Amino acid sequence: MRILVTNDDGYLAGGVRVLAEAAGSLGSVRIVAPDREQSATSHSLTLHYPLRVRETDDGTLVVDGTPTDCMVLAIGELLEQRPDFVLSGVNHGANLGDDVLYSGTVAAAMEATILGIPAVAVSYTGTDFERLPAWTGLLTRLLRQLLLRDDFPAQTLFNVNLPAVRPADVAGIRITTLGRRAYVGSLTRARDPAGREYFWIGGGESTWWGSDDSDFRAVHDGYISITPLHLDLTNHGLINGIAQWQLEP
Ligand code: MN
Repeated sequence: MRILVTNDDGYLAGGVRVLAEAAGSLGSVRIVAPDREQSATSHSLTLHYPLRVRETDDGTLVVDGTPTDCMVLAIGELLEQRPDFVLSGVNHGANLGDDVLYSGTVAAAMEATILGIPAVAVSYTGTDFERLPAWTGLLTRLLRQLLLRDDFPAQTLFNVNLPAVRPADVAGIRITTLGRRAYVGSLTRARDPAGREYFWIGGGESTWWGSDDSDFRAVHDGYISITPLHLDLTNHGLINGIAQWQLEP
């Protein structure tokens, strides 16, 4: 099995090494990852400047673009053979609920899905990222169960979030729905030393809510959350109702 591994935290982040290590017993692994932090770049594609690729001593391909750029280049050009699976992560931070729409980690898995390659995004909801290597064994067992299935669903990716506990303390695995996230005070409006106004997005407090089967609830309760995501954003349940509006040009 050929496995392509990427992330959005950049190729030097510890999480991508952990995921590559965990996948190593399942097949041949190639890392193609951004050269720098690309978190929250979502599904952006670089169209207006050229992309450069370099190879590190250990064979990692480093791209000066987004996670989506990495997938497009890797699958379309860089890899000699098409990968059987794409793994994205382990992200340094949660990708739960609404945040999947901003996540570069999830976007890379989405791009793989669009290109017809089954994909799994993995994120760690804790903050002690230096302890990520301790998850290698658990991730190996989990990936083995997901990647070796012959009924891996088409046009679907799995968004996996690891709870902020030690691997030995994981309560179990829940298959979940996306919850909701709201940020408070995450927009700063201030003046720089020259007196010019600036805005800064980030920080602040966040709250979440969701049903008992939500991803937020699962990791809160110490479970690994696995949410099957598909890319069709159509609200199918509304199609007939909106058609009744009889809108005219
Ligand atoms: Mn990230």
